[in-house]
Amino acid sequence: MSASFHELIRCNGVGKAYPTEAGPVPALGATDLALEEGETVALVGPSGCGKSTLLLIMAGLERPSVGGVEFKGTPLARPHREIALVLQDYGLFPWKTVRRNVELGLKIRREHVESQRVDSMLAELDIGDKGHVYPQQLSGGQKQRVALARALILKPSLLLLDEPFAAIDALTRERLQDLVAEAWRRRRFGLVVVTHNLQEAVMLGRRICVMGNVPGEILDTVENPRACAPDYRRTDEFYEVCRAVRCRLEQNL
Ligand code: ADP
Ligand code: MG
Repeated sequence: MSASFHELIRCNGVGKAYPTEAGPVPALGATDLALEEGETVALVGPSGCGKSTLLLIMAGLERPSVGGVEFKGTPLARPHREIALVLQDYGLFPWKTVRRNVELGLKIRREHVESQRVDSMLAELDIGDKGHVYPQQLSGGQKQRVALARALILKPSLLLLDEPFAAIDALTRERLQDLVAEAWRRRRFGLVVVTHNLQEAVMLGRRICVMGNVPGEILDTVENPRACAPDYRRTDEFYEVCRAVRCRLEQNL
């Protein structure tokens, strides 16, 4: 069996300049990034360095200006059913209950919706009692749980999170990171999380890619093999890695 058999996604020299009336806006320099199946990567870097652009390209939602993306060995030209994306603004439909929001992706795919599967997904994300409620009755943290449930129920092999918890208070944010880590331990999907929160990057990314410059590029990579382990946040190693990532970020500012 070749090593590439387990490769999930590969960005080959992917770069992007957005066409605008004032001319092209450079957003991302030629970037290489590959993930094995079940691998987790955090992308950190200052605002405007192209993190979201790279994530949207990996989701098949933006076309790169140069380079290309392969998902499981096949060129990625459009959104793929095994790739799920969760954004900061939740993207919930306000006129649908929590349960209907979570079922939505399954329904769009014309898959049978087993109510037990929805129940256990809601319970896993600590919103087991919210199925009948509408999004406006939920806190930000609860809304993001719904968005995660809606993505996870589709059993993605690649989950992309773009600053998912940026608008959420610190303790709730840690709980949500733990929920993502627990979900990952159970399912071992590939994960790319964009964040400018160092602790979030270290909790979730087994590799932490430090981005910078304009147009952005990956300047440095920190290995972090214990990411997603239970209670990692309370260990000395966690603080060591946070410090290492902070140093790399400051060096590149
Ligand atoms: P980040 O997520 O790291 O903050 P982005 O990928 O959103 O960075 O943006 C990188 C650069 O591309 C920024 O200069 C931003 O203004 C620009 N940009 C992003 N999206 C667009 C767009 N749709 N049209 C034009 N410029 C854009
Ligand atoms: Mg962004």
